[in-house]
Parts: sequence; structure tokens; C-alpha cells
Amino acid sequence: MTTVQIGDARVHKVVETEREPESFDFVFPRGNWEVCETNRARLEGEHIDFDRRAMLMSFHSYVISHGGVNVLVDGCIGNTKNRTGPGVSRYFGTDYNLFHMRDTAYLMRLADAGFPPESIDYVLCTHLHCDHVGWFTRLRDGAWEPTFKNARYVFASKEFAAAQAAWQNNPEGPFERSFEDSVQPVATAGLVDLVQTDHEIRPGLFLEPAPGHTPGHVLIHLECGGDHGIFSGDVIHSPYQLLDPGVSPVYDANDFKQARATRDQLLQRIVGTNTTVFTAHFGESSCGSVIADAGGAYWFDFL
Ligand SMILES: [Zn+2]
Repeated sequence: MTTVQIGDARVHKVVETEREPESFDFVFPRGNWEVCETNRARLEGEHIDFDRRAMLMSFHSYVISHGGVNVLVDGCIGNTKNRTGPGVSRYFGTDYNLFHMRDTAYLMRLADAGFPPESIDYVLCTHLHCDHVGWFTRLRDGAWEPTFKNARYVFASKEFAAAQAAWQNNPEGPFERSFEDSVQPVATAGLVDLVQTDHEIRPGLFLEPAPGHTPGHVLIHLECGGDHGIFSGDVIHSPYQLLDPGVSPVYDANDFKQARATRDQLLQRIVGTNTTVFTAHFGESSCGSVIADAGGAYWFDFL
């Protein structure tokens, strides 16, 4: 497990599942495979499976531990969630089952890291897609109940409203249906606080608007003792995008143009600084800093 110090805050990465293959050509319909080939030494193994022409994706949460308060960032895929059906097949194809009926030891790993569910004080989320909200609930006696019962779940109201509307419009959609089993039950239990996209949760921990991938996507910014950490969610999915920054993944379909502008702004702002980026889907440690590479591209200095 990775643990990183930001000032006197500690950030722990807890893995749900990693090295999950996703077709490069599906994720990046306008991607340039040659860029991957040119950078094979950087990407092979942890980030791209060259034999299968597949991205290797990690799904994990982070826990920020500071001043006796534990903050969970993003909730992964979750166990026993039904993610099949026509809506999923139409989007991903019929043999896609990455998110369906998983059975991982995520909660055990979280507890082993020192964070049993009852120890979590806040649950934050960059955006409300199914691979970021799954562990917000778990199945007990046939019903979805909040996993983190002592926590306030703090969501951007814009994101909550957009995810709710998307689910109402497309209840069987691949990303939309998780609202019903992973977000709504937490709201029904009275555990949700809806806030602005620049909300400060506590001193040194605040949200920043980062729209595009979803309408209310946020960055989560931790500033402690002069150090900065940014939890970047799905503003950037893969290290490949650092090498080919103009390319957009299919998942940015909500608003490709805005998603790219948000990504460009973030990279330009933090390149060469001491900001540690905690990504949602990179392999290896998943965190590091952005450095300049040749020709206006970027690379990642993994911690
Ligand atoms: Zn994601």
C-alpha cells in the first residue's frame, strides 16, 4: 500500500482492483497507438498491455488522515452491484463485465490500513460515476445500506442533480444506474451534504470545479504545511494522455471540449510544481507530480 505525506496529513491508497484491461481503441477512438509504442518502456507492464493493445486501469480509494479526521476520497466499483443489461451492452459491448457483481476484499484492505468503515468521518467524491460510488453502500439483508454510517457524504450539488437527472432519463445506463443503488440510499439515510463546487470541507481541504467529464466533476485539493495534493478523479484517465494531451477518452462524452479545457488547465497549472496528483486510474503508485516532456507533452514522476 502507498502512503504519502502532504504536510502533516497522510494519504493512504487502498486498492480495490488493478491492472484491469480496457481496449485502447475503445477508450481512445482517436488515440495514437504509435505514441504508446514510442514510449513503450514507460508504459509497458503497469499501464498498457501491448500484446492485448489494452489500457491497464486501477480502481482505488484514498484516505486522507489528518488531525484525527479520516476522509475517504472516491468509492470504487463496490461488491455485488448489477451492472449488466441492454444499456451496458449498447455502450460497452455484450462481453463487458468489469463493473458487474464484483467480489473483492476492498473493505478488509481498508480496515487493514487502519480504517474500518465506522472510522470514516467524511466521504468525498470527484464525480458520481459507477466506478467512484460503489462502496458508498453495501448489501445487507437484501437492501442497500450506507457502508460508512458515521460519515457525512459531501457531494457537489451540481453533480448530484446531474447524476439524478441522468439516471431518471436513462435508468439502465452503464454509469447512470449506480445512482439508484449507491447514491440514493445514502441520501435517503440523511447522510448527504450537498455543497458548491468550491466548498471548503475543513481548513486546507476544499473542492475545485473541474467540469467536462461530468457536469459537476470536482478536484479535491489538500493543502497542508505548504504541500499540495490534488485528487484528480477522471480529469485524466491514463498516463498515455500526458504524452498525447490532445486526445480525449470516450468517457468524456458529456462534454469533450470542456473536459479537454479542464485537463489542459490542470496540467498547465501544476507542471513542474510540488503538487502531488492522486489519480483515480493510473497504475503503479497512482500518484506523483507532472513534469514537462518534449514537444509540449507531459510525463509523470511517480512517487
Ligand atoms: Zn473513473
